[in-house]
Amino acid sequence: MSTPTTRPAGRSVVVTGAASGIGRATALKFAADGDRVLAADLDREGVDATVRAIEESGGTALAVAGDLGEQQVVDAVVERAVTAFGGLDVLVNNAGIMDRMSALGETDDAEWERVLRINLTAPFLLTRAALPHLLAAGGGAIVFTASEAGLRGGAAGAAYTAAKHGVTGLVKSLAVTYRDQGIRANAVAPGPTATGIRVDAAPDAHGPAVIGRLIGAVTGRISTPEEQAAALTFLASDAASFINGAVLPVDGGWSAV
Ligand code: NAD
Repeated sequence: MSTPTTRPAGRSVVVTGAASGIGRATALKFAADGDRVLAADLDREGVDATVRAIEESGGTALAVAGDLGEQQVVDAVVERAVTAFGGLDVLVNNAGIMDRMSALGETDDAEWERVLRINLTAPFLLTRAALPHLLAAGGGAIVFTASEAGLRGGAAGAAYTAAKHGVTGLVKSLAVTYRDQGIRANAVAPGPTATGIRVDAAPDAHGPAVIGRLIGAVTGRISTPEEQAAALTFLASDAASFINGAVLPVDGGWSAV
């Protein structure tokens, strides 16, 4: 692996899903550390509020609102960051949905496509668009918000579990392919976290029932978005310069059981 070239502060950072939850906390943390943040999200009001909060604390941020499953939105995000901040150093692929958390036999085509498009295809599209700029900068860091559901089969529904396992596959493929060009790729695998994420499943469906039991029995409490943001920003920092291809559980020990 070559020596990391990301600057310790003042980097150009894209954070997706930055209107809410883990993405918002992560955008605020990068900005508090002196980085310039492009906050991307479907939710225009929410992402504007994140940018206002950063600016009110003296930081630099911009918002791009749109569906990250669409190529033109992805291109606009990368183009805005590169134009406004003079390049791109860090990409945080965080936006995601849980949807209905159905078992495979009850997963219809629409749920499968929604969940895969937002949780797996969008990070693929954005990473592909960002790579030439990270390479042009001599390297950088790509961080993903995976999930406990990217580590094993009992944490969520079938489409979400498949998508998050796909995310861990992207991380490992990127880590191996681009390490000699100074790019590191890693993921955080959050346990249950207090955010705006919605589960549209019936109470007796697989995901929420399983998660509810495990939260009570194993994790004791759920995580704050700031605890996830701390891990994401660490993995993107030079303090993590020899960490590449890792999927870090941030789950209070849930995955250790
Ligand atoms: P959240 O709902 O608070 O935030 C997710 C953000 O993503 C929202 O602001 C939403 O508008 C945005 N988003 C959704 N679809 C989008 C799209 N097509 N284009 C652009 N933006 C879109 O939820 P969160 O919990 O902060 O989720 C962040 C990540 O954490 C997700 O990838 C999720 O799968 C993962 N995760 C969450 C938990 C948890 O318990 N909250 C656990 C494990 C993993």
